[in-house]
Amino acid sequence: MLDSLKILYTRDQIAEQVRRLGSEINRDYAGREILLVCVLKGSFLFFADLVRTLTCPVVVDFVRLASYGCETISSGVVEMRKDLEFSVTDRDVVIVEDIVDTGYTLQTLYHRLLDRKPRSLKICTLLDKRVDRRVDIEADYIGLALDDGFVVGYGLDYQEKYRELPDLYVLEDAPPVDEER
Ligand code: 5GP
Repeated sequence: MLDSLKILYTRDQIAEQVRRLGSEINRDYAGREILLVCVLKGSFLFFADLVRTLTCPVVVDFVRLASYGCETISSGVVEMRKDLEFSVTDRDVVIVEDIVDTGYTLQTLYHRLLDRKPRSLKICTLLDKRVDRRVDIEADYIGLALDDGFVVGYGLDYQEKYRELPDLYVLEDAPPVDEER
């Protein structure tokens, strides 16, 4: 059965927010080197676009997290599938996420990186879905706020589909999934 997708944000609306986030980061880190951490897989397109707006020196690194859940909500059990290559100790670190939903994934990553004693640690997310938040975590840089709904496109998937779409869509009548996200 074909999924039903409804446009949420166009590529132009996304690009405008990416430019805004880039200028906020440029303002806050002028002349300082950032370790920019891409949370795979969902943020790979956002990360690639964001990094090209930055004027401060940047080192890039990648983590892969898997959170297991029932239906489209995370259970809070988060496993690190791929760790960073570089040390974060004494560095200015910015985590780049596609979407914060319950917050479990980000909270786990945030505290794991904080334990490694970075000089500073901030969070940048393209999408902020506050209604589902289960833990007390806030991003420092937020692209677009979202009400409820399961979003795909621009790197975000549903069962590994739709990452290649240049715009963001809401998946209407998202059937329950029970797998890693
Ligand atoms: P959280 O731990 O905050 O509930 O979930 C974070 C992760 O779940 C995101 O990095 C993303 O991979 C996935 N996720 C949460 N909400 C959505 C959504 O609306 N669409 C997609 N495609 N993934 C989502």
